[in-house]
Amino acid sequence: MIKVFTAADIMQVEVVRGELESRGIPTMLKHESVRGQANVVGFGGMWPEVWVVNEADAPAAQQILDQHNNMPAILPWKCAQCGEEIDGSFDSCWNCGHDRPVSG
Ligand SMILES: [Zn+2]
Repeated sequence: MIKVFTAADIMQVEVVRGELESRGIPTMLKHESVRGQANVVGFGGMWPEVWVVNEADAPAAQQILDQHNNMPAILPWKCAQCGEEIDGSFDSCWNCGHDRPVSG
């Protein structure tokens, strides 16, 4: 088995795992028990990990992960109140303070 991905965020790990499984690559999760304990993740390095079961699948898995990493992480959004375009890393408008729309 080969570890191909790890992140503090279990959601991110499960997205990656889902992508690999959907391409027919068998995977295993390790340390997934941190789910629901976000406040303690990061202490002790017990981040959830995605492992590829068959080492022969590792190159294909790496390719999928590269594509995953190249996706734009967070898209910019437009403020519904003042029309300002806001960087995706902000959850509210820097101009007027309006919250990001849920539908993104
Ligand atoms: Zn605004």
